[in-house]
Amino acid sequence: VRVLLFESRAGCRVRVLGAYTICGPTGEVLAEGDELPWTDVTVDAERMIHIAGVSTPGANLAPASGATMDVVRLDAEKQEQLAFAGEIEFSTDDESRLRALNLVEVETYVAGVVPNEVWPQFHDEAFKGQAVAARTYALYLMGEHHARYFDVRAGEGDQVYRGVRDDDIGRRVRAAVNATHGVVLAWDSPSGTRVICAYYSAACGGKSQSLAELRPGADVPPPLRGGVECDFCKIAKGEAYRWKPREITKSALFAQLKTRDQAMASWGSLSAVEIARRTDAGRIAEVLLRGDAGQQKSMAGERFRLAVGSRVMRSTACDIVDEGEVIRFENGRGFGHGVGLCQWGMEGQAREGRRAGEILLMYYPGARLVRAY
Ligand SMILES: [Zn+2]
Repeated sequence: VRVLLFESRAGCRVRVLGAYTICGPTGEVLAEGDELPWTDVTVDAERMIHIAGVSTPGANLAPASGATMDVVRLDAEKQEQLAFAGEIEFSTDDESRLRALNLVEVETYVAGVVPNEVWPQFHDEAFKGQAVAARTYALYLMGEHHARYFDVRAGEGDQVYRGVRDDDIGRRVRAAVNATHGVVLAWDSPSGTRVICAYYSAACGGKSQSLAELRPGADVPPPLRGGVECDFCKIAKGEAYRWKPREITKSALFAQLKTRDQAMASWGSLSAVEIARRTDAGRIAEVLLRGDAGQQKSMAGERFRLAVGSRVMRSTACDIVDEGEVIRFENGRGFGHGVGLCQWGMEGQAREGRRAGEILLMYYPGARLVRAY
């Protein structure tokens, strides 16, 4: 799988504690050695990459088998060191930013995702369920986007991937990944067996929602059509199952909305927010935004939620109260988009003794577990 680690103007610093090879775009060896001490990888204005004393339009860093590469992003707020298996391919984009792709085995990738997408206290069966969901999501994207130069992003846009982790959680995750090796969720479409796009979120708050609310107009297969009743997520820590009222000022919300919607840039201010439509599951499907001069704009509920901020409007299963200066969100249920697997619900069921496979098939109705390899 090709994982986009970052696109960075400042570049990064890499190290390999073991033998390595750096190849150019046509496979020619540019540098090799028994160990690569910390070295900066940067891009100049001519889009040439500088790495280990050579300059090249593209570079592939490959450690000898078994070794990992330590990477520190130089423009990140917190310069943390992450370790990656596989190879790293460096290239540049039009803006002379350094692009880093991690070419890595799917199973290793999944082991690098699960620790960031579950809570450490989760049951082993929940770790297994998360491994299958993460693997399924990745395989779905690998099948979808042949035209892109990557399959998945390492950040929250897809699944959070932070490379190899060697602590207790890392070991528990590797056991869960090994126990489910190659297993994915698929459904039997009229044209054959298809891997599903295995969406998941923290807590559904009572009922899952259809992928159609996230991707209007998409042809949504049965396992992602929502409507799954779940109260197992009531064990969730913090405010995931039910959340306390939260507020945002209209001026702060308007500033967020303007950056996301050009049509609103000409409005003087935001005067009102109303719920225009709810889904069968009771989630906000569409909001109506009103401007100071009578302008109107409708927006999908999930899009509106991300504009508000997902820490404030934790789900679209809530009420909106327009208080004049501020918008208040009340009666909040669930945390996240609520499509597919409910992660805290999975944990609740695992604690009651259910197995990962059984749990997954409940949240993705009509799906089945298949071995992809
Ligand atoms: Zn749930």
